[in-house]
Amino acid sequence: MAPDARTRVAGPAVRTRRMRILAQDPSVTVGGRVLTAEVPVPADRLEPGPTGHRFQVVDYDAATGTLHPPADRVHSFSRVDDRMLLADFAFHSQQVYAVAARTLAAFEFSVGRRIPWHFASSQLFLVPHAFAEANAYYAAEDRALYFGYLPESDGTVYTCLSHDVVAHETTHAILDGLRPRYIEPGLPDQGAFHEALADTVALLSVFSMDDVVCRLLGPADGQGRIEAAAVAPKALRDGVLLGLAEQLGRAISGERGGALRRSAALDPTTAWRTDPAFEEVHRRGEVVVAAVMSALLAIWERRLRPLVHGGGLDRNRAAEEGAKAAGSSRPSRRTGSPGRPRASRTSPRSLAGSPI
Ligand SMILES: [Zn+2]
Repeated sequence: MAPDARTRVAGPAVRTRRMRILAQDPSVTVGGRVLTAEVPVPADRLEPGPTGHRFQVVDYDAATGTLHPPADRVHSFSRVDDRMLLADFAFHSQQVYAVAARTLAAFEFSVGRRIPWHFASSQLFLVPHAFAEANAYYAAEDRALYFGYLPESDGTVYTCLSHDVVAHETTHAILDGLRPRYIEPGLPDQGAFHEALADTVALLSVFSMDDVVCRLLGPADGQGRIEAAAVAPKALRDGVLLGLAEQLGRAISGERGGALRRSAALDPTTAWRTDPAFEEVHRRGEVVVAAVMSALLAIWERRLRPLVHGGGLDRNRAAEEGAKAAGSSRPSRRTGSPGRPRASRTSPRSLAGSPI
């Protein structure tokens, strides 16, 4: 099929193009395969990068001083094995473009209007291999999202391949366009709100991919049913769906299967009012994320209850109800290149330091 031929019309005005992405980190596998999905992305006239009118992927690695060639077109990547897919920088570029464009489209659909960036340009730079570090961040002064990578003994961890990380960083840029002063120095609540919204969007956006939710609920029997235990509150709370950035979490903590954050599993507490540990914005933001995820789980569980018969339920219906619950929880070209990532990332107009 021709590269750009998979364009379709969804609704009266929104034209979309299907693009293959990694729906979860590469460390999350089902049946021994990484979890990919073909998702609708707003159709745009794309140039190499990919470059559209809101995003430009610039693959410059400041650690090695290398400018990798731009991805020349949109590929289906449908017949590529996992090892080659994960090593293909053209796929990395497509991944950051597609997830960022989907995230922006979700916000614009919710507010019903175009959302400008904080800066005077229509394009945000996406840099998929920016530096050799297990982190990623938004830098408004560079008009860019930077994604790091970390060489490990069992393979390099690329933060650009994490759906959660890309959605999270894109949300920082979107929120900075909507509320420009929230990144400036101030009370920890400002930064915590940024982190909470970014984590919430990253977690909820997975629910828009029904097939991915299905696969993460576990294998179904011949009738398409799963055991009720697979959707018990504890199983969902501790599962992949509500964990953020599993591979990055493992790379940092050394703990296999450990997500970077699992706010849904936090017990309600008022410690954030007095404990200095909650001055750290990610930690503080988790208080909000925990509340939203607990609400999501409560809504989902209530919807699932009538579907359980004989200790099991239909997997597709379970995923569908998860998507509805997540919907209820969701907040209703310039040319050139970005600057080098700063050696010291303490600028007031960037959210850096602790992981994502
Ligand atoms: Zn963040």
